[in-house]
Amino acid sequence: MLVDSHTHLDDFPDGELEGVLSRAQAAGVGAIVLAGTTLESSAACVELAQTHPMLLAGVGIHPMDITGPIDDVVFGQLRDAANSTPRVVAVSETGLDFDRGAPDLAMQYQAFREQVRLAVELHLPVIFHSREIPGQPELHNEVLKVLRQEQGWQVGGAMHYFQGDARDAGVCMELGMYISLAKPLLRQPALQEIAASLPLGSIVLETDTYPQPFKGKRENWTEPKDVRQVAEKLAELKGITVEEVEEVTTANFITMCTRPGAPGRSQVLDGVLLHDFQKP
Ligand SMILES: [Zn+2]
Repeated sequence: MLVDSHTHLDDFPDGELEGVLSRAQAAGVGAIVLAGTTLESSAACVELAQTHPMLLAGVGIHPMDITGPIDDVVFGQLRDAANSTPRVVAVSETGLDFDRGAPDLAMQYQAFREQVRLAVELHLPVIFHSREIPGQPELHNEVLKVLRQEQGWQVGGAMHYFQGDARDAGVCMELGMYISLAKPLLRQPALQEIAASLPLGSIVLETDTYPQPFKGKRENWTEPKDVRQVAEKLAELKGITVEEVEEVTTANFITMCTRPGAPGRSQVLDGVLLHDFQKP
């Protein structure tokens, strides 16, 4: 069984979801995490995660969606959303975005720090976003620095849609963070080289699925079912079987979401979703 540890399925029209989930299931995907990007979307993810046994939720405010500081009220709303059901397994999506047109950086840092603090308070892993300015890969280190300063290592998490270099991967692992690989693995030689040398025990998989009308034909949109392609590519690069990739990356996901963990969350992961998965 595979896990897609990062998607935005809440952005799809209601009528689409059933098809997306059944295609994922047919591809051997057993669990999918929905990442919130605003307070409203976090609430929608939490609600959606309670409607289907495959779905889990993250709550968070995406760095591109920051419109003001995270004050006590917003912090409390995120905390309430996270505490509302054990199906919330992460603080996600949060992080920093240095791209042109991104919100004010001071505001982004404040919001990211507060969300890492929330994660530490609630014992939830941080599944985080990090986008550098092309040509300035050292900016990923800024994100990792905040995680270190705010003691993100206490709860772990994953660097979502990993596009960093070997040094970033090393820092992530030192911080007890997983490297989350997505479809860029299918086409980026530099990433393939890094992935081949990473310990399988440090990798989780995702698709970052969101509606992609710019791709034209509907069948060309990325969906959680595509996490199998990422797993197959990783198996090929490492010269191992796809079954081993499935087994270890799913075990990594469970470890990430249950340590030190509220017991309710372990129950959700063990009992409801991953009942046919053998824990190592
Ligand atoms: Zn995302």
